[in-house]
Amino acid sequence: MTKPPVPESRTYVHETCQGTTEVREHAFEEMSNPLSDVPQTWCAVCDGFRPVCEFAWADTGEKITDYRARHSARATSLERIFCSRVVWFGTLAVAGIAGMAGGFVLFADSGWLMKIIMIPFTGFMCVVLIGAAMIETTKTILWRVCGFRETRLLK
Ligand SMILES: [Zn+2]
Repeated sequence: MTKPPVPESRTYVHETCQGTTEVREHAFEEMSNPLSDVPQTWCAVCDGFRPVCEFAWADTGEKITDYRARHSARATSLERIFCSRVVWFGTLAVAGIAGMAGGFVLFADSGWLMKIIMIPFTGFMCVVLIGAAMIETTKTILWRVCGFRETRLLK
């Protein structure tokens, strides 16, 4: 079975000014994610961030808040909490601190240069590893909730 190609971009309309904005890459991934709780998005015409509830997808005409509700209807409250920004940033911050604490213990007997290099490095590695695990968990949740690991394929 061949996978359908992932679209590169999608356009949304800001209903307040009727201006269109094309989202790509990370911004597109974030806006296509129905479990995203990002409250504001960019309008190229207003040249600023506006509430997501003022925007609709240009190709389907569906409001982005309706799109999120429709595709995330099967998500449990625990899954919603896991995908929220507070939990993400909180977990990554804890991972960084725990990693640095681990580095502090591991390199307790090392010289100061080794400490300066290795303690932030172990903190960074913890953030990368935990971040990768969280991305994988999020994609698994998305697959269960809306049938796609890659939300840019959703319409
Ligand atoms: Zn606008």
